[in-house]
Amino acid sequence: MSCTIKHVVGTCIRREPRPQTKFEEPELRILQLHSDYVEYEPVKKEAPNAEDAEKKKIRVEDVVLLLTSVEKGDDASVARAAVDETASFMRKLKASRVLVYPYAHLSSDLAGPAEALSVLKEMEAYARELGLDTRRAVFGWTKRFKVAVKGHPLAEQSRTIRSDGEPRRIDTVQERMPVKEGKSLDEMKSVVFRQAKYDSEKLPANDHRLIGQQMDLYSFHDAAPGMPFFHHNGMIVVNELLGYWREVHRRADYVEARTPIILNRQLWEISGHWDKYRENMYFTRIDDDEYALKPMNCPGGILIFKGASHSYRDLPLRVYELGIVHRHELSGVLSGLFRVRCFTQDDAHIFMREDQITDEVVGVIRLITGFYGVFGFEYRMELSTRPQKSIGTDEQWAAAEYGLRGALDSLGVPYKLNPGDGAFYGPKIDFHIKDAMGRTWQCGTIQLDMTMPEKFDLDYMGADGQPHRVVMVHRTVMGSIERFLGILVEHFSGKFPVWLAPEQATVIPISDKNSEYASKVGTLLDGEGFRVRVDNTSNTMNYKVRDAQHRRVPYILVVGSKEEAEGTVAVRDRTGKVEYGATPDQFIQALKAKIESKEIN
Ligand SMILES: [Zn+2]
Repeated sequence: MSCTIKHVVGTCIRREPRPQTKFEEPELRILQLHSDYVEYEPVKKEAPNAEDAEKKKIRVEDVVLLLTSVEKGDDASVARAAVDETASFMRKLKASRVLVYPYAHLSSDLAGPAEALSVLKEMEAYARELGLDTRRAVFGWTKRFKVAVKGHPLAEQSRTIRSDGEPRRIDTVQERMPVKEGKSLDEMKSVVFRQAKYDSEKLPANDHRLIGQQMDLYSFHDAAPGMPFFHHNGMIVVNELLGYWREVHRRADYVEARTPIILNRQLWEISGHWDKYRENMYFTRIDDDEYALKPMNCPGGILIFKGASHSYRDLPLRVYELGIVHRHELSGVLSGLFRVRCFTQDDAHIFMREDQITDEVVGVIRLITGFYGVFGFEYRMELSTRPQKSIGTDEQWAAAEYGLRGALDSLGVPYKLNPGDGAFYGPKIDFHIKDAMGRTWQCGTIQLDMTMPEKFDLDYMGADGQPHRVVMVHRTVMGSIERFLGILVEHFSGKFPVWLAPEQATVIPISDKNSEYASKVGTLLDGEGFRVRVDNTSNTMNYKVRDAQHRRVPYILVVGSKEEAEGTVAVRDRTGKVEYGATPDQFIQALKAKIESKEIN
């Protein structure tokens, strides 16, 4: 079926009059059309903030057209929720290209043009971040347009995305404890004990939620939506990852800190989070004061810096923190480890003098790219510069951008320039990694910040004996440990390099007669510090091998009477290749070398 948009709107959209009460939640209305092509042409400027555009025809083929009406009160979190909805729609359709299209006719309660444009830009940026091939039609113009909608039953879907827009509040225990009236203990248990179960028939084989279940890495429970539970096997992977991460930071002269999860509201007012970010924050009350769960680690880290005096000779000061942060996400968009409400940021703050920016950023880029290389990720970098609305002086921005650009240029690495896409408080470099499936993920970021040092009066004593403002960098390598783990699980389909594998080897005797020898081999490996299991259960050998394969164990050592007599092991790797005749010691040396070099299998 091919039809014009008028036809589509006529059949798909029900325009119900909206009750206009002041308690109403803001909504974002979208219409998703899976299309063979969309053609549009800017005809006439309408909005005062219309973007620059040429009056020429643009054609996008094989695309999900995302018609969007931004309503009063819509914000970034609604924008992201809408894109999540579209991304999930596109996954079902196996579509990869999206065209974000401003379309005022889905609502009668429209946002102002500035607000609308910023929400549309947020949608565009976030869709890119999710790895979608993203286009956005120019804002503020009357456009002539034509669309050919595909003729399958799922091609057209309209959605209303809501956000309550109020700060989320965690009640104190005293307030929360009274049991909801009429609910029996059994009824409560039936809800609170519920755990998500994943079905291999319904999910792709490399879905990290499914693999996490098969390998016993982590789980998800209704008692804490969006907050993953890590099991022993998952913690092994996380701790190995963090062990290496710490080693990399130690070598680069960082020091470690840890700051509280709950901090007084006034701190968040000073930092500006109360003003700009409170819709994504959780609050609680202790005694008579209001507190917030931190959505970012900076204010805590800053308090440590402020607690001592610093000379120009002490800088740069590089402090890393594995900070557990909470950020509100709509319940409908929570998804495994990728969209959570609680995660661990592998954060660091670097306090420095202005003349140190380039060298410091070079160091951070080297650290980040070196880390990605270990997992075989390809990556690209993007530099985002001063947006129209920004704080700070021209001189500060010039120095900051010069510093970042200088670092990229001195390394001679390619990068994409996003003019005007920086944060309002400073320019940034983002890292997008590409996984084995060709999807890209924004993970690392290097963010120069000129506001926090002002807000918190962060000074150092210069060689001239006078106080000077420090420059601050916020940066992450993995971004979120949880999300990075999810990416790793899918990237390797659970077949982790041996240094990360929760179980590195399983010893399986061919028959009961060999179980003593199997235990002896197991003890040898265990003594060398490897994670090994000896499967002396009563199951058949074939069952044991399949079970170990299911758990993606890198090496299965099968021992029978021949091996026992020779004092050897038969080593089967994850490709199914078997090598006979190696002594346990030879296997140990080979395994050590693979772990040492962090070999990717
Ligand atoms: Zn920070």
